[in-house]
Amino acid sequence: MEKFDILIAGAGVTGGMIARELSRYQLTVCLLDKANDVATGATKANSGIVHGGYDPEPGTLKAQLNASGVELLFEAAKQLNVPHKRNGSMVCAFAQEENHIIDQLYERGLENGIEGLSVITGDQARELEPELSDKVTKALLVTNSGIVCPYELTIAAVGNAMDNGVELKRNFAISDIAKIGEGFVVSAADGRKVQGKYLINCAGSFADDLAAMVGDKFYQIIPRAGEYMLLDKAEGVRVSRTIFQTPGKEGKGILVTPTNHGNLLTGPTATEVEHGESTETTGAQLAYVQRMGAKSVPGVNFRQVITSFTGVRASVAGGDFIIKMSDKVDGFVHVAGIDSPGLTCCVSIAKYVLDILKNAGVQLTEKENWNGTREDMHAFAKMSIEEKNEVIKNNPSYGKIICRCETVTEGEIIAAITKNPVALDIDGVKRRTRSGMGRCQGGFCSSYVMKLIAQHTGTDMTDVTKNGAGSYMLTEKM
Ligand SMILES: Cc1cc2nc3c(=O)[nH]c(=O)nc-3n(C[C@H](O)[C@H](O)[C@H](O)COP(=O)(O)OP(=O)(O)OC[C@H]3O[C@@H](n4cnc5c(N)ncnc54)[C@H](O)[C@@H]3O)c2cc1C
Repeated sequence: MEKFDILIAGAGVTGGMIARELSRYQLTVCLLDKANDVATGATKANSGIVHGGYDPEPGTLKAQLNASGVELLFEAAKQLNVPHKRNGSMVCAFAQEENHIIDQLYERGLENGIEGLSVITGDQARELEPELSDKVTKALLVTNSGIVCPYELTIAAVGNAMDNGVELKRNFAISDIAKIGEGFVVSAADGRKVQGKYLINCAGSFADDLAAMVGDKFYQIIPRAGEYMLLDKAEGVRVSRTIFQTPGKEGKGILVTPTNHGNLLTGPTATEVEHGESTETTGAQLAYVQRMGAKSVPGVNFRQVITSFTGVRASVAGGDFIIKMSDKVDGFVHVAGIDSPGLTCCVSIAKYVLDILKNAGVQLTEKENWNGTREDMHAFAKMSIEEKNEVIKNNPSYGKIICRCETVTEGEIIAAITKNPVALDIDGVKRRTRSGMGRCQGGFCSSYVMKLIAQHTGTDMTDVTKNGAGSYMLTEKM
């Protein structure tokens, strides 16, 4: 059985970023995930906002990690060459009786130690964002916040961790955890086993199941779905900042934001669902998203929706993050209840976990050759025509456009299939290259992407899946 110093359960942004932080040190680390790729849980379906830090209740772990997490996140995104932007945000009140909420959020932000906050009038808000509703009466302007591509951040963090020696095991659905003398034997549903001295539980919506496996389930995950609509790039210019609404009679409000890739995103709703994989979208919730999105930015053309999706928050009662060494099971670290702003806090969470391990006696000796940078996977798209011609001369696959909507070349897709963590299915290629993310949602490029995956993994096209086990695209050869 393979043995490691540290096992991490769950390769979302939390587990991925912890893996990257641990890869700095002379430790053997293995990241386990039940899926065929990294970033397939809450991490692939959220708003992608780097929250300013004015929202969490002062004194909570969320408030602390949000305040320290913003700059750490932007720094990591820069090192890893992941799409990010400090575009700022606004929380808008829509009636005089909501104005006091803006003042409360401002005060709370100050208490949390957040800089760059100011309260502005509705007219000042419209000067900054001309498409904003004329009903906006007051707003909190937040300048330290931004947007980041959550799944690209995770792919890059895991890729960087792997380049620095971390191992990733996919399709490893943890079904049993046995406590042994010094550590744990972790078993997967398919019979594979690995051993580790420490086990960090980053299983998102299923973190309570893993806690139960070691006999320390003192929390229950409450899965809460958030539905979204993603609009074509033609709509991406409606606003430059992320526009939030004050929580009111109609719920916590719906945001409207540009994305890193130029689309417009609106959502999310908040409804309790059965489990972490209840990711269906519903007509009623999407209608709510449309109505509330239009409340902030009335000019949005919802005929330009190109897809809708749902992400599931892994909330816990009390609402704070649970990050601690188990009181009952030595060596088991809980990283649970990581709902929003978990993405914003991924690096601060990782550093907090490192402190827990250090306090538990883990020797953190730095590697001499650690490299925290990763090449820009979108470098080709950013080149001038002359530079592109030069690249194509050396590697003609960069001259072949596979995804016409997002202008993705064969060279970029091959890079996604061959660089850590390699893409093994169509959605994996999509999250790494944007092939299939555009207007036609993969209608034209999917078959060619399948052919490239089959070629580079030495399999048959009938074996290529959309997103792992059972999701075959082709049933038989004619
Ligand atoms: C609708 C919505 C909007 C959000 N908006 C924002 C935002 O704008 N800004 C922000 O900062 N945060 C936001 N968040 C929160 C953020 O998305 C999460 O905090 C973050 O993605 C959590 O990452 P994670 O790695 O902890 O969990 P996940 O991404 O869910 O990863 C858990 C992983 O564990 C794996 N796993 C589960 N069970 C097992 C098992 N038995 N064996 C092996 N592997 C297993 C899963 O396959 C998965 O990959 C939002 C969340 C949602 C749902």
